[in-house]
Amino acid sequence: MTGKNYIGNKLSAKGSKTFKTFNPQTNSENDTVFTEATTDEIHEAVSLASEAFKTYRTVSGENKAHFLNAIADNIMSLGDTLIQTYCSESGLPEGRAKGERGRTVGQLHMFANLVKDGSWVEASIDTAIPEREPAPKPDLRKMHIPLGPVVVFGASNFPLAYSTAGGDTAAALAAGCPVIVKSHPMHAGTGMLIAKAVIDAAEQTEMPNGVFSNLNSSGIEVGEQLAKHPEVKAIGFTGSIRGGRALYDLASRREEPIPVFAEMGSINPVVILPEALQSRNESLAKTYANSITLGTGQFCTNPGLILGIKDENLTKFIINLSEEIIKIDPSCMLHPKIAEAYQKGRIKASEQKDLHIVAEYQHEVKQNYARQTLTNVSGATFLKNPTLHQEVFGPYSIIVECDDAEQLHQIISKLEGQLTGTLIAEDGEAKNYSQIVSALQNRVGRLIYNGVPTGVEVCPSMTHGGPYPASTDSRFSAVGKHSIKRWVRPFSYQDWPNELLPDELKNENPLAILRLVNGKQTSERI
Ligand code: NAP
Repeated sequence: MTGKNYIGNKLSAKGSKTFKTFNPQTNSENDTVFTEATTDEIHEAVSLASEAFKTYRTVSGENKAHFLNAIADNIMSLGDTLIQTYCSESGLPEGRAKGERGRTVGQLHMFANLVKDGSWVEASIDTAIPEREPAPKPDLRKMHIPLGPVVVFGASNFPLAYSTAGGDTAAALAAGCPVIVKSHPMHAGTGMLIAKAVIDAAEQTEMPNGVFSNLNSSGIEVGEQLAKHPEVKAIGFTGSIRGGRALYDLASRREEPIPVFAEMGSINPVVILPEALQSRNESLAKTYANSITLGTGQFCTNPGLILGIKDENLTKFIINLSEEIIKIDPSCMLHPKIAEAYQKGRIKASEQKDLHIVAEYQHEVKQNYARQTLTNVSGATFLKNPTLHQEVFGPYSIIVECDDAEQLHQIISKLEGQLTGTLIAEDGEAKNYSQIVSALQNRVGRLIYNGVPTGVEVCPSMTHGGPYPASTDSRFSAVGKHSIKRWVRPFSYQDWPNELLPDELKNENPLAILRLVNGKQTSERI
């Protein structure tokens, strides 16, 4: 582990600013010294990416698939070194590290299969009608093409799956875009190991130098310079609302504004209807105690807001959930700074007028471990106080007791955009609350029925995103194969000679992909 930046295929450490990662379990610094990228190195990485784009954009789906599969293989070959580094930089357990590695590798294979098949470019062909009156119809052929160099910012809480070679990077490389990763300072070592796996794969499969770079940083300057760089054409971000919004504003103030696909924090409202509370009170309390504390509550899909209509069963649920949640052993947070932010967020929330702390882990906890906390307010108080709507990143949730269904509807309608919404109901109960369901749909990217929001399946039908501030563009998902669409633009050829068209659009359809030809889905030749 050299602690250097990868500027394309070359290791580089020209700067004087250094930092170390931190092991929150042992409450001590890790050994490796990382060197932050300098302005020169940032320019070099972006110029290389820009140069690499000229050839990488034309690399065949089959060769991109080799590259993506080689990255996955190289990640697996890192073996225990990767797992140990991950754990030492996150405080997360080995099982989670292995699970996240499986997901990361699975995503790379998924995109490899997608580009190998080739139909993802959504080729659409409308052949000419020269004899059309009053004017002839031209031949038009459309497909997705890559945007150009993409900068990826990963989040602290997913050192693998939403970081260096996580979903954003895999999707961008699959689309044909070179990637420059702004490595997360909390897991720079994990990032560096993964970066080497990507660089080695690029060399093994003869991808152009600059198709991937990994830049270290311990503050916001490197990220800001990357976001402002004229040759960067899009940004993928996973993290806090504050960080995502800052980058979004920066990118839109550029002379050439660029898209920022920021996936940000969320409080993921859970609505528990009265009949469900009556019949499943205890089991729901157990389920939700586990979901709120899963991964020390450090998930963007953590259920941070539970809504119910005031009655004796809701009161019973608050007691049951309180009892269950404090039975769970506290666990370690990702970093002292995250533990500190959680502590501040909890205190800020608990100082709010008319808010009650109904459960809080009371025994001693180790350094950087989080005390799970449950609070409770009335619907009227929640409606009046926007501070209560903010994410407290950690094992925290607020239960809101609404006066009636109308107030519940009003609260949901006033919520900010969310990644998920959950409805807990008995059979046939939901149809009596159709207004609430549709208000919830209007605020979220994914609706869950009788489950928990934690756990994001990677598959084509997953939407991981939502109205702002859950994400900066609710039209796209950050998870699943359709997330590739963030890194492409539609492009049309008009009356272009067949031999000059890309294979995807040629009459003979040499890639045998599925295309929309004169309004009909077909893989036939024209
Ligand atoms: P973060 O503090 O926003 O940091 C994310 C990355 O962005 C870091 O590399 C950070 O750099 C950089 N950054 C932050 N502010 C910046 C700015 N103003 N300019 C340039 N770069 C900036 O978030 P985090 O603590 O790592 O992650 C936790 C958050 O992520 C939670 O809110 C969680 O809900 C959210 N999350 C969302 C999803 C999703 O898919 N929606 C998934 C996972 C996590 P420095 O650290 O160097 O400052």
